[in-house]
Amino acid sequence: MTPSNSRSIAVVGGGFGGVGAAVMLRRAGYEDVTVFEKSERVGGVWQHNTYPGAACDVPSHMYEFSFAPNRWSRRFSPQPEIQAYIEGVARRFGVLDRVRTNTEVRSVGWDEERGRWTLETSAGPHEADLLIAACGQLSVPKTPAIPGLNSFEGPVFHTAEWDHSVELAGKRVAVIGTGCSAIQTVPAIQPEVAHVDVYQRSPGWTLPKRDRAYSRWEHALSKRFPLLRRLERAYIFNYMELGTAGLTRHRSLLAPFRFMARRQITSAVKDPELRRKVTPTDEVGCKRLLFSSEWYSTLEEPNVDLVTERIEEVVPEGIRDASGTVRPADVLVLATGFASHDFVAPMEVMGRAGRTLAEQWGEVPRAYLGATVPDFPNMFLLYGPNTNAGIGSIIHTLECGAGHVLAALEEMERADATRIEVRRAAAERFDRELRDALAATVWHSGCSSWYVDENGNDPSNWPWQWREYHRRTATLEPGAYELSGASAPVGSGALG
Ligand code: NAP
Repeated sequence: MTPSNSRSIAVVGGGFGGVGAAVMLRRAGYEDVTVFEKSERVGGVWQHNTYPGAACDVPSHMYEFSFAPNRWSRRFSPQPEIQAYIEGVARRFGVLDRVRTNTEVRSVGWDEERGRWTLETSAGPHEADLLIAACGQLSVPKTPAIPGLNSFEGPVFHTAEWDHSVELAGKRVAVIGTGCSAIQTVPAIQPEVAHVDVYQRSPGWTLPKRDRAYSRWEHALSKRFPLLRRLERAYIFNYMELGTAGLTRHRSLLAPFRFMARRQITSAVKDPELRRKVTPTDEVGCKRLLFSSEWYSTLEEPNVDLVTERIEEVVPEGIRDASGTVRPADVLVLATGFASHDFVAPMEVMGRAGRTLAEQWGEVPRAYLGATVPDFPNMFLLYGPNTNAGIGSIIHTLECGAGHVLAALEEMERADATRIEVRRAAAERFDRELRDALAATVWHSGCSSWYVDENGNDPSNWPWQWREYHRRTATLEPGAYELSGASAPVGSGALG
């Protein structure tokens, strides 16, 4: 074992980010890796989101690591298959025994004297040279601030915390929200329930999903010629890159998406009033694009009502809307999304300057390449601020992020350094460049979405192509980081 791979690395979160990073670190020779996962299994959001109809809405091949290709059953695989994949990867690459399940990391603090991170976990303290926060952006369910929510007499649960003990057959169900989670679960539960009221605050553009099972001969072909699978993956990636170009810079590229979304409404929705209700007025892609070929036909089912009146309050027997109508419900489902701007929360992260990450961030979380923050040495965020994709693969993002950690470790070994920290000037320069680019994107064309907060702050999306993220994270930009420690004194700026 070389001195390099004796460094200890703590990873917070055992979802795709944490598992992927642990595998990539092991493959690079780092053996002292501990992953902390608060749940009983790895999988992250794919373990928690078990609502009926849960499936990926970008093609399955975008849900695999480049180092672990998979034979998916469908073009858009269901949640159990994705969960089985991530568990299989953890097992196959020997990182499952590095994961401490049922262990929550409550707080972490940088010890400047010793140049280490101290973790306070539900199972006691832990120390590490390097910290990777892989907490996910969409992992904390958001409960809407609707008056009277606690007064509801029946079961209430969030899509990400689906209560499978509640029998829905024959019940009246109210679903609040019409985002990605709602448009998957409403068509799945509609056939069995007596009635569904879907409460829509603002509609999103919905593109056809074109899901289907891969045929036996397709499986046989891709088994015989693995190159075909790689080609399909490359094709999907490049198609999504085209979409990203439309969302970020070249609006004219959105025209086909707008056309497909409009055509889906006109061909699937016969009722002109329903058509009006489901047709967004904002630009396609401003809100997260939705993918479904069943959403509109489900809304036309006789046991489904789309309610567009504002919700006034929840009452014990149902929901009262702004017109004063009370619609009875037996079960209330919150498809209301996630606290997407809190990143590492509720974990507290105390940095070098005696300030927490939340305090340093203030109004808007920011990180150099979404990964590193001044005053927080030896810390890397995966799927951190502004690394979400309007159209794209978060698994690719995570792999690039973990690749950046490996590039940093490589520099640390080369410089015989024990510390690495992004320079404030580099972080600020990057942030200015990022904000300029974001301003030109479709996400800032005037709509409400989970990407942007009510003050226009955007800690969510990457405003360039994804090959650009790969290019920037693969190596360290000269001068961006300061390395110090061991043979290099603090402030020596080995990369400067
Ligand atoms: P979301 O996109 O944030 O949607 C939340 C929905 O709840 C929106 O329709 C929102 O309305 C509504 N809402 C929130 N608060 C409300 C309130 N107080 N009153 C009435 N309506 C309210 O959440 P999500 O559907 O869970 O999806 C979040 C993200 O997770 C997605 O964009 C996607 O990136 C990811 N996701 C992926 C998959 C997949 O791959 N299969 C599936 C699910 C989610 P407004 O639009 O008016 O705010």
